[in-house]
Amino acid sequence: MILEKLRNEVLETARALAGYGLVWMAGGTAAARDPESGWVAMTPSGLAYDGLHAADIVLVDIDGNLVEGHYKPSCASELWLRFFRRRPDLNAIVHTHSCYATAFAVAGQNMPVITETQADWFGEPIRSAPYAHVEDEAFLNAPLEALGNGFGVLLGRHGVLTFGKDLHDALERAVTLEEAAKTYAMACLLGKPHIFTEDEARRSFDFYHHRYGQEQKG
Ligand SMILES: [Zn+2]
Repeated sequence: MILEKLRNEVLETARALAGYGLVWMAGGTAAARDPESGWVAMTPSGLAYDGLHAADIVLVDIDGNLVEGHYKPSCASELWLRFFRRRPDLNAIVHTHSCYATAFAVAGQNMPVITETQADWFGEPIRSAPYAHVEDEAFLNAPLEALGNGFGVLLGRHGVLTFGKDLHDALERAVTLEEAAKTYAMACLLGKPHIFTEDEARRSFDFYHHRYGQEQKG
């Protein structure tokens, strides 16, 4: 099987999304690019992850042509591929419908930076892209614009996308964003939340990724 290790990691990440309560049934997506070949492994469309095997993870090239697999790829696969083409620094995407973060996508609001952990992982607010139907060109363009140079984007009235240099980072960002959104909702009940300024968020991100820990983070 081509890229068996990567396809196993994609499957494990998809299952972890369900384990963290970020998706349910056949919802959500995990996708990863092999840096050497440029091929992308992604979860198939419309199937629950429990019964899947690595061979069920679809492998396509960067233009969406099938390399190996027997299922159709995720129904938004062209969007994932556009992200990979736009951002060579990112090799993994996670898509969830997690409740609290999706609430921002429904309200059409950007998610401010509110916790140190969120600042460490994102370094800036997570922008909300306007709603567009999956068949429309805007579905492909608006999220790319909203992402900019960031690491997460909210899909209008739909859900959440997070990114990373690898699947671990994309997954940790998905969990971090959902927890931050939950904390923000709670803080709003207590009063007016204090949010990070642009400089504070950027400083935390730079510190975490360049000066903190045992090794350099990407
Ligand atoms: Zn979705």
